[in-house]
Amino acid sequence: MGVGISIQGGEMIFTCERCKIAPLKNGFRRPYQWKTETGFNNHKCYTVTQEKRDKTRAANKDLVAQKRAEAAQAAEERRRIEYEAAMKVRVETAKHRPGDFVYAVFYRVTKGTHEQRYNRLVRVRYEEERSYQACEMVITEITLHGYLACPKGMTFPSQKISDADIFPSMPEAVTAFQKRAAQYKEHCERADFCR
Ligand SMILES: [Zn+2]
Repeated sequence: MGVGISIQGGEMIFTCERCKIAPLKNGFRRPYQWKTETGFNNHKCYTVTQEKRDKTRAANKDLVAQKRAEAAQAAEERRRIEYEAAMKVRVETAKHRPGDFVYAVFYRVTKGTHEQRYNRLVRVRYEEERSYQACEMVITEITLHGYLACPKGMTFPSQKISDADIFPSMPEAVTAFQKRAAQYKEHCERADFCR
């Protein structure tokens, strides 16, 4: 039961070279390809005995390990290429550049839903407590789905913001942050009421 391992779209495909060319069974082609090694190993191979199956399984082990490493590498490479292509488009079409000053709204989590108690995380509240802010920020980096930005005059901490968080003027950003803070408060109260 010779195994042929190919990599399609970063995934391993196990092909039984014997079953692939086996005569039709009741007019149908036998299954000869699997996405998992287990699927391949467990298939009732055309005319092959259990003993031979165990032997080839052992012989295939190194090949499988090697192909698995190749598949992981190919998948990683594909992800990298996709990410770079997406980033290229993103950078070309982004409305803002690193170094731009913008008026933005963001929030910081002031109290999370979980706290560390000894060696475990304990849920201490249903909704995190947030502090919404509006400020003039400088874009430091374009990311795939937004930007990293710092409050003007600072280099830390970085905040993730998107185009939806950016406003044409400070008064508009202030209005937006007040609205968002009120909406979040309302959301927490409603969620609390529903519990
Ligand atoms: Zn087979």
